[in-house]
Amino acid sequence: MKVAALYGQKDLRIEDRPVPEPGPNQLVVKIAYVGICGTDVEFYQSGRVPAELPMVLGHENVGTVTAVGEGITEYKIGDLLLLGPPTACEQMCPSCKRGETNICINGFPNTAGIGGPDGGYAAYYLVRDVAHTMLIKVPEGVDPKDAVLFDVICVSLHGIRKSKFKFGDDVVVSGTGSIGLSAIQFLKAAGANRIIVLGTSDGKEPILKEYGADYFINAKTTEKIGETIRDILGKSVGADVVFECAGHTPSLKNLIYECVRPGGQVMVIGTIGETLEIVPSSFSIFEPDIDFSFVYTPDEVQIYLDMLNAGKIRFPGMVTDIISLDDAVVKGLDRKDKSGQIKILIDPSM
Ligand SMILES: [Zn+2]
Ligand SMILES: [Zn+2]
Repeated sequence: MKVAALYGQKDLRIEDRPVPEPGPNQLVVKIAYVGICGTDVEFYQSGRVPAELPMVLGHENVGTVTAVGEGITEYKIGDLLLLGPPTACEQMCPSCKRGETNICINGFPNTAGIGGPDGGYAAYYLVRDVAHTMLIKVPEGVDPKDAVLFDVICVSLHGIRKSKFKFGDDVVVSGTGSIGLSAIQFLKAAGANRIIVLGTSDGKEPILKEYGADYFINAKTTEKIGETIRDILGKSVGADVVFECAGHTPSLKNLIYECVRPGGQVMVIGTIGETLEIVPSSFSIFEPDIDFSFVYTPDEVQIYLDMLNAGKIRFPGMVTDIISLDDAVVKGLDRKDKSGQIKILIDPSM
């Protein structure tokens, strides 16, 4: 079978490997789609992963069970499954005991395709530890192309559920990628009063409107972001809750300094890997809560699938390209022309 394995910085190799056979308590899944995540791009560009290289990337997977190991009763051949991060560590750490598996101290890096075993940039995927892998059955009416978006969409879902957002709040969402778009839709569904979106490209306004944004501010070209927000809100202060979904330090700085009202909340959902210089005393007098959100729990993935199946949420235009494993670098991890791209999926059968 074909796999794409990362060997180092900008070194992704297409290889032919034997199709895995399931041992006891293992499953083999034929990958239908695997999402290309920002994390994958980061791994490819830096050559640094929390594991030994080579490693097959891919942690946003959906596929059909093709072989079932001894001792498995919960899953059968033909089941369509989502394959995500660990549901709980074997040691059952205090976080896992509380059901907060997203902040397990033994870590998200045990996820296949991130730091654990090989991931889904492959025709087939071996679930090595069924008991500790997020495996969620996809309901019949759900398109696998929508189901596979769980990784980005549930990141948003978790951040909003963890936030202090309440019906009728004014909100700012910074970021117009897949996480920002999902946040806009959830906040709209949850009854936000006014949804103001900060982004850096103008071409996305139609899709932002479609997802529920009321106002768009180009953060690159607008000089006085805070003033613009206060004008929109007709208030002398910023929004009640602001969500960082861009994963950029300038975006977080804007949210803290310009966008949140005194006593409001800044919820950081995006992953920010750069240094942020801030002067706490310049905003601490307004007592904003600055809070963080990390990935999601299995319950939240189930909520996503249930709501999708019931037609209560939908994500049109989110998948912007479907590519082959052979094109994983040129049309995916190292794509030069990213304009108009939101989520790119790999279909290993192509
Ligand atoms: Zn991801
Ligand atoms: Zn744990």
